[in-house]
Amino acid sequence: MQTYDALIDDYERGMTQYKIDAVFGELKEELIPLLDKILACPQPDHSKFTMKVPAHEQAELCKFIVEYMGIDMERFAQAETEHPFTTNMSIDDVRITNHYYENEVISAIFSAIHEGGHAIFEQNVDHKYEGTEGASISYMGLHESQSRFYENILGRNINFWKPIWPKVCEIVPELKTVTLEEFYKEINHIENSLVRTEADELTYCLHIILRYEMERAIFIDGADVKDLPKMWNEKMDELLHVVPETDAQGVLQDMHWSDGSFGYFPSYLLGSIYDGMFLEAIEKDLGSIDDILAAGEIKKITKWLNEKIHQYGATRISSEVLEAVCGQELSAKPLIRHFKDKYAKIYNF
Ligand SMILES: [Zn+2]
Repeated sequence: MQTYDALIDDYERGMTQYKIDAVFGELKEELIPLLDKILACPQPDHSKFTMKVPAHEQAELCKFIVEYMGIDMERFAQAETEHPFTTNMSIDDVRITNHYYENEVISAIFSAIHEGGHAIFEQNVDHKYEGTEGASISYMGLHESQSRFYENILGRNINFWKPIWPKVCEIVPELKTVTLEEFYKEINHIENSLVRTEADELTYCLHIILRYEMERAIFIDGADVKDLPKMWNEKMDELLHVVPETDAQGVLQDMHWSDGSFGYFPSYLLGSIYDGMFLEAIEKDLGSIDDILAAGEIKKITKWLNEKIHQYGATRISSEVLEAVCGQELSAKPLIRHFKDKYAKIYNF
């Protein structure tokens, strides 16, 4: 096994550089022109979304949303931290954290949906695996696929919000100053940015591809550490057409490399690639997710995920999950199709 494959395997068992090359390469080829097309369109007015929302309202809204998604509130807790995360003491005690910045209510909402997705996975592992490796899901790509499915595929769909918008505005009256249509455009606002953790769902893919290409250069081509800042800036220019002024906003921005977690980054994007495949499989079984969400029946989707994926916990690696749930091997095509359809509708091209 090559060194880089061994590192990737630490975070996504069974995954290899060879498999990732194929799907990331295809995504890169399709996403750069799609992004250029989107950025040539008029962009939504962000200034409407800087309203101040007290932390207690944000916390109440987040609680309402994760319950709506299907979290069992009897076996759940929500608290505050600087950086949101999910943790579990057991299958019956799953906790998430969030941050509440006064003028960034959307950030808190999407952190809650993301961590809520992780928590739904953790809560629904079959109890027979309690206390065993089967209940500790260490496959990052698969775990991220669940949080990102709720965050991006469901949460950034306007139909997620249609049945609950009046309730959302009741809990956070400040949101009455915007329409649901404006909110939808804002949560799907695409822009080239320097920092991964602040990126939208589309440019996020390119942020990960950049890191993957850098890790390949280090472990396969033997790139020298002193050349990495320059390589980073060149790749930012190529992929996202923006270049950081400092390395703090560039090659040093993440904690992963400084703590030695090489091979971790690809799992974030693999999660989204799995989501494209899961979306197709759900629609085949249950029909259009637009219709299910618009009818307020999101729990039907949660139940499907529980049965097809969550109950097995960590007893199946991702390739086995894809085979069992989607009947096919890893493919970026469903995600690419999803992005193209979605953004053509939002930006009218
Ligand atoms: Zn996550």
